[in-house]
Amino acid sequence: MLERTGRLLHFLRERKLECAVIKDVHTIRYLTGFTGDSSILYVDEKQLVLVTDGRYTEQARSQMKLCKVLEYKDSIWEAVAGLVGEALAVGFDGDAFSYTEAAALQELLREPMVSINLTGLRIVKDERELRSLWEAFKIADGAFNRLLPEIKAGMTEKELAARLEYYMRSLGSEGVSFDTIVASGARSALPHGAPTDKPVEVGDFVTFDYGALYNGYHSDTTRTVVMGMANSWHREVYTVVQEAQYRGIKAARPGMTGRELDHLVRDYIESRGYGEFFGHGLGHGVGLEIHELPNINRRGDRVLEPGMVFSIEPGVYIPGRGGVRIEDTVVLTAEGAKSLTTLPKSLLEIV
Ligand code: ZN
Ligand code: ZN
Repeated sequence: MLERTGRLLHFLRERKLECAVIKDVHTIRYLTGFTGDSSILYVDEKQLVLVTDGRYTEQARSQMKLCKVLEYKDSIWEAVAGLVGEALAVGFDGDAFSYTEAAALQELLREPMVSINLTGLRIVKDERELRSLWEAFKIADGAFNRLLPEIKAGMTEKELAARLEYYMRSLGSEGVSFDTIVASGARSALPHGAPTDKPVEVGDFVTFDYGALYNGYHSDTTRTVVMGMANSWHREVYTVVQEAQYRGIKAARPGMTGRELDHLVRDYIESRGYGEFFGHGLGHGVGLEIHELPNINRRGDRVLEPGMVFSIEPGVYIPGRGGVRIEDTVVLTAEGAKSLTTLPKSLLEIV
């Protein structure tokens, strides 16, 4: 935690800020270990103070070693303004505040606050974070392996999603990383198809996109299977996505940008004639949030570094017919990308 707050203080010094007021729960957890919400972290060169209410005081004291706890009674913003005191250059993580909250705090301060984005602090994962991520993926892989032999034609998308979530919980997941996606048949052409009452049927592609949660860290994996024997169309589409995904994992290197990686995979899918059916970005960072930096898409201007964790998830979606997405989340090392999931990627026929 000391090293993390050190980096935050360096960040503030570079921007000539005297202190920061932080509201984002993930950033607070990252900096202090506190897992509650509805609180504000105040940081300056001399102290870290968590401003919270009576529901969280005990929890905060037991979870945090280096951070003081200030329990407020009436107005959290008055308590925070009291800590800011005479400081003029005050940073705040504006993306985490509502307009009303920011206005309420601003009213009590002498100078306009400066909005800062602190999500970049978390972009390179340390050993402890990687251990939690590996564990989340181990749980998710285990759950999918339990589900696979149970999939049968006639089961609904909702039932499959429920079973997958049940197995993740059984294996130690704190919850789901995001709303589980199970989309079958023509619905598999929806990149974010929420599960419905539709039964899965022979001839359907079925896409599962799901994740477990461990120590607050998310996993994110997608696999697509075919119900029954695959026909030539299934094989054609699946092979394009599988090859695109393989190329993305193979090409990922420190020193390139997320945009370059996205471009490379996109180029391949275009070369196979399916460019217009791959409408989303190639990937996103994964950590305390399910979508975080680095962006692996057209806006991905960050240079990739060892220790970054992100998904590589190309897809081909043919409206009215169906689609395929294959997603691995990888950790970047000096030698290249290492997948956090151990699930196979060959075309699975559920017979
Ligand atoms: Zn996903
Ligand atoms: Zn994803």
